Amino acid sequence: MANQTLGLESQLYNYLLAVSLRETEVLAQLRQATATSQSMAQMQIAPEQGQFMALLIQLIGAKKTLDIGVFTGYSALVVALALPQGGKVVACEINREYAEFARHWWQKAGVIDKIDLHLAPAQDTLALLIANEEVDSFDFAFIDADKSNYDTYYEQALQLVCPGGLIAIDNVLWSGRVADSNIQDNRTIKIRDFNQKLHQDKRISLSLVPIADGLTLARKLP
Ligand code: CA
Repeated sequence: MANQTLGLESQLYNYLLAVSLRETEVLAQLRQATATSQSMAQMQIAPEQGQFMALLIQLIGAKKTLDIGVFTGYSALVVALALPQGGKVVACEINREYAEFARHWWQKAGVIDKIDLHLAPAQDTLALLIANEEVDSFDFAFIDADKSNYDTYYEQALQLVCPGGLIAIDNVLWSGRVADSNIQDNRTIKIRDFNQKLHQDKRISLSLVPIADGLTLARKLP
């Protein structure tokens, strides 16, 4: 799993960051703190991906979003910072330690009031939102949780986003493993099947953007 854009040699990648990255101080500190304290630090999204997502939030004028798989909170933070006043991120995380780490940084960045954290299995939280008549009410969803449940999260998110709303799904290129038919582990197969399904899914328009570890953008058709 890569947390920088795949396939760029380091000189070019560093150039890309040098001429485009505008990371706030707290985001940079959060990235640094994750890198130095978390054994799974490579699960954090790439900073250029975060900035891309913030731009998407602004482009679609999102006000209410889902963050499925918080980890140390970078994606929820970058989205919360891009949302207008009164905007809301509903964040799903199952790991208490990650959630507490994330909360610390959201507080520090002054956006904790914008983020509604649910410490529970994401499919339960999403099912609750569906039962609470929040169907068609989200403008944006980011899926970056356990790969074996991607299809479940996608189907739930597709109900929860409004017509014209956007779902972004992370790690769809899976460090290139999805393209290697010799690799047949469970998570690789799940992502491969998921990508095939979305390619045929008539409910969405889509683009697989080769930023970071691959980010599919799926827009729910009106
Ligand atoms: Ca990821």
